[in-house]
Amino acid sequence: MSKTYLMKSRTDHQGLSALFPNELSELISQEPSFRGRQLFTWFSSGTFKFDEMKNLPAALRRSLIDRYGETACTSKVVKQQTDADGTVKLLIKLHDGLFVESVLLIDEEGRKTACISSQIGCAMGCTFCRTAELGLERNLTASEIVEQFYHLSEIAGQPSHIVFMGMGEPLANIYETARSIEIFHFSEGLNISARRITLSTCGIPDGIRFLAESLSVPIRLAVSLTSADNDLRTRLMPINSRAPLPELHEALLHYQNIRKKRITLEYVLLGGVNDSDAACRQLVQFARDLECVVNVIPWNPGAGLPYNEPSKNSTERFCSCVEHAGLRVTRRYRRGRGISGACGQLAGTGSSLHHIHPVTKLNEQI
Ligand code: SAH
Repeated sequence: MSKTYLMKSRTDHQGLSALFPNELSELISQEPSFRGRQLFTWFSSGTFKFDEMKNLPAALRRSLIDRYGETACTSKVVKQQTDADGTVKLLIKLHDGLFVESVLLIDEEGRKTACISSQIGCAMGCTFCRTAELGLERNLTASEIVEQFYHLSEIAGQPSHIVFMGMGEPLANIYETARSIEIFHFSEGLNISARRITLSTCGIPDGIRFLAESLSVPIRLAVSLTSADNDLRTRLMPINSRAPLPELHEALLHYQNIRKKRITLEYVLLGGVNDSDAACRQLVQFARDLECVVNVIPWNPGAGLPYNEPSKNSTERFCSCVEHAGLRVTRRYRRGRGISGACGQLAGTGSSLHHIHPVTKLNEQI
């Protein structure tokens, strides 16, 4: 792969599941090069145990086991919860004993969406989000990102859509995220179409420019706006003091000029905080020259966070106000709340482990 960002993500700790066929061939360079492709095909079909790869010679299987262990998968599911609405949440243990969560959402039409994490914890500090309370433990590797998809597939069937809306800020882990996107999209593997992959960011202008100019896969972009009032947004989302609204707006225009794709503006609705008519007008003003859809997400409660859920009335009033101004609005379903698997509720714990903080301590409990 000649793309420089793929080179940057290829580190020593990289597992095998996010390598391309030619890279796998390099790892077993004493073998004919088609062996790399065979390995890649096994991974893409969800098989990671070397012993099950029957078209590989026994001697090669043995040497792979000697080198990497029984399986090429670096992570494993230690807990699975299913909500009454069908949402599945997985607690996944990584090679170093840390944990990450992933969610599978199933909508009314039966469409399956993998909601995957890009970091353990998050450094962005959004004051309404539970993941933020953990702080950042570390970035996930591309393999750890990709393996979340395989774990969800094994348990609930292969998802057709992927959203980077789990734990972490994907643009703060840009190279590993980019590699995982390339792997998801690669036509000889999972072959997931670019329009079925959505990356959600708190709004990092350099990262948005990277998506516009450098990423070879034209994925969909969602931006967590949540307020179009600069001072309020700084209080809710500390990233706004580094990248204030005018700068974010400029990056979005740039993205739009290059990609010609509609952007989703996510708006977490906090009762009595950002749900007024004035807030609506500010949002409409921010969106005036963007080709966008506004996704209103009624805030999901997180223990101890100082916000209120918006009432049904104020949610409807806010949505109508935005619609009346001519913008398209979608309302986010409240899926997965029974298992703390909804937006902003991922905190690296299974429900029986709620009291444990930070994520690192979980290791001792399982
Ligand atoms: N860091 C990325 C992706 C993770 S959060 C981002 O900020 O976009 C995914 C979405 O959930 C974001 O839109 C975020 O604003 C929203 N969110 C966070 N906490 C929430 C909560 N408690 N209730 C509802 N949505 C929340």
